[in-house]
Amino acid sequence: MTRTPIFAANWKMNKSISETAEFCQAFSEHIIDPRSADVVIIPPFTNISMTRSLLRPTIGVGAQTVSHYLSGAYTGEVSVEMVASAGCSHVIIGHSERRSLFNETASLLTEKLQRVIAAQLTAIFCVGETLADRESNLTESVLLDQLHSSLKPLATQLVDAPNQLVIAYEPVWAIGTGKVATIDQAQAAHYFIRKTVANILGSEAADTIRIQYGGSVKPDNIAQLMTQPDIDGALVGGASLDPESFYEIIKNGIIT
Ligand code: PEP
Repeated sequence: MTRTPIFAANWKMNKSISETAEFCQAFSEHIIDPRSADVVIIPPFTNISMTRSLLRPTIGVGAQTVSHYLSGAYTGEVSVEMVASAGCSHVIIGHSERRSLFNETASLLTEKLQRVIAAQLTAIFCVGETLADRESNLTESVLLDQLHSSLKPLATQLVDAPNQLVIAYEPVWAIGTGKVATIDQAQAAHYFIRKTVANILGSEAADTIRIQYGGSVKPDNIAQLMTQPDIDGALVGGASLDPESFYEIIKNGIIT
């Protein structure tokens, strides 16, 4: 099974309107063949609309989270219909910063995932263990738990639409720390995730679903990660803020 790699830029709470315009202008100088890779830029909510209008149409735009509510009196919340109407094709769900800093629980994440799938958008669902989990040999049980609790309730929908799910394996200890999982650690976790997804959704869906690696990805470490059979791209934080560095990651990550 050949899966088109997917590279996504998670800007987190960074970039003003003018910085976003500068990024989009510089990034648009590069032509990326959509047959070689899917590329998604994920800015803060305020910049989604302008990012959509400034990038080439072949580049996707995403949101970093969405509300689990549909609409109504929920001050400060942004709904999935709103991000879709602003031009989003993708939404990150369950980033470790949302789980740990904003107390997003497995059941809340399942509701959010449900909203994204029902709106026909693609979810980038993040899973990953902490350093304490890894040191206690709990990596697999944490991944199992995160995947089971959020994907099982959506199994019927996802079996029919596996392209609406991308999984990002992001070991929490590797995010923004400069510590990258070794190639063997990353491949072993991706293999385990695919096997677990096969148990939940069946092997056809598991073969289709892309699994990205995230955690201190840089232009000089992506090529090696992409040699692994179960690594289908990257979710990039810090190194995606610079258009040239993100482009280098995509270029070096595309195995020809
Ligand atoms: C992330 O936040 O999803 C991430 C992987 O960040 P970084 O690339 O900076 O480690």
